[in-house]
Amino acid sequence: MDMLPPVTPTVVGLRPSATLAINETCRQLIADGHTVYKLGLGQSPFPVPDHVVKALQDNAHQKAYLSARGLPELCDAVAAHLGRTEGVSRRGEMVLIGPGTKELLFLLQFVYQAELLLPSPGWVSYEPQAAVVGRSYSWLNSDREDWGLCPQALDAHCRSQGARARLLILNYPNNPSGHCYSADELQALAEVCRRHQIVVLSDEIYSGVHFRGEHVSMARYYPEGTIVSNGLSKWAGAGGWRLGWFSFPDELAALHRAMETLITETFTSVNSPVQYAAISALDNHADMAVYLRDSRRVLRALAGHCAEQLRHAGAELADAEGGFYLFPRFHGLKEIEDSAQLCRRLLNEAGVAILPGTDFGRPGGEFSARVAFVDFDGAQALKAAAAVADIDAAFLKQYCEPTVTAMGRLADWLHQTS
Ligand code: PMP
Repeated sequence: MDMLPPVTPTVVGLRPSATLAINETCRQLIADGHTVYKLGLGQSPFPVPDHVVKALQDNAHQKAYLSARGLPELCDAVAAHLGRTEGVSRRGEMVLIGPGTKELLFLLQFVYQAELLLPSPGWVSYEPQAAVVGRSYSWLNSDREDWGLCPQALDAHCRSQGARARLLILNYPNNPSGHCYSADELQALAEVCRRHQIVVLSDEIYSGVHFRGEHVSMARYYPEGTIVSNGLSKWAGAGGWRLGWFSFPDELAALHRAMETLITETFTSVNSPVQYAAISALDNHADMAVYLRDSRRVLRALAGHCAEQLRHAGAELADAEGGFYLFPRFHGLKEIEDSAQLCRRLLNEAGVAILPGTDFGRPGGEFSARVAFVDFDGAQALKAAAAVADIDAAFLKQYCEPTVTAMGRLADWLHQTS
């Protein structure tokens, strides 16, 4: 029998991530009978709201392929939602629905030949996607305590490199730091983007879990150059439903068209029952307002508690203003060389899994790491939160386990190791 010749994948730029290595160690520890606290994974702890689940059940019979850009009623609902929540005017025809925003981000990088600008620290997948499609990328460092991108740093980068096509990915509430931009900061960034004609992908997937419900979209200040990215994964608890969207200004119709064409040649359309159901997450239902209010109250109180614990144990960090994460820097740890080793030892010695800053574009010697504080039963926590006026330490101890215990173990380990 003839043998197959050696098969060589042609994808370049892929490397195994430290996330996988940590997951493997977790699996091994659990198999050996150890308890592991998973503060590595950034999944919503909250259930999908009941009325959205009901809408999915009611639409299980939907079986037709839908148009590549998405179900027109859903595209209109996305545009209306942006108008209502952000004061941003967009047309339903300029929306694209994807199987999660991650795929849409990949397609955008594929169709737009531009240098990718990434504020550091930033989410794990932007850079590998750029590498896979052969785009150049630059991490933009911030010297601010809260990690926010400085307009001056963006301007200096663009001036030093001369004119070229550029794509800036802004992400806030930020994964991994929890940082959010104020209206003034967005305005200042918008001026620089306009000056250098930068296309902005504003990754606002955590907008609904801004702790004070005060998210402001970049598209408010730079409407002509901003593609807004959002979806059901984080603030509607439906990561596994795989539904996200981009909304484009008319000025970027060429990018919209190119991506729509690519969709026809790749995933065709997102599954129809979920597209019909998603309308109910966007249509200003009274239950959604209560769900978001209580999700934010729980996350805000827990983020505050975790930040306090970390500071008490000697870590340096900014307060999170939204999302699921904190991004502390550790100092003076004995016999630890970099952030990857720090995370390995923390897992082996205290059973707490967090991700090293190197996964988010930071140097290993900085000893930074991302703590995801969402390992708890969100259904119970939401129900209990609706019944109390204040979310205090006793509430967190009762309803936000195992996160609260994990933070205690992390703090104890830090004390012992420094
Ligand atoms: N952007 C950020 C910042 C994220 O944290 C995630 C999910 N972890 C995504 C995009 C992708 O989300 P999805 O594909 O589920 O829409």
